Amino acid sequence: MKQRAQILARDPVCKVCGRAASAQVDHIKPLAQGGDDSYDNLQGICIPCHATKTASERQPIERASMGSELIRRNTYEVRHNDPRNTTGPGPEH
Ligand SMILES: [Zn+2]
Repeated sequence: MKQRAQILARDPVCKVCGRAASAQVDHIKPLAQGGDDSYDNLQGICIPCHATKTASERQPIERASMGSELIRRNTYEVRHNDPRNTTGPGPEH
């Protein structure tokens, strides 16, 4: 049995919304962020939730890969306004 089918058999209901039937297999921690293909890192997910999750994961990566000064400035402001990130270099004149 393929791993994908095993995950869907283990998680017949979407692990994100808990309502819709799982139709796809999702990486809980994206491969781009160091996740792997182990069973522990995979979950059943419905198509709408997968689309939402993928879009939210892709956003910061695309933003980072774009070299535009405007985009970089926006990213900096977002980081600067994030109360969790207090260790980054700030514009403290
Ligand atoms: Zn769902």
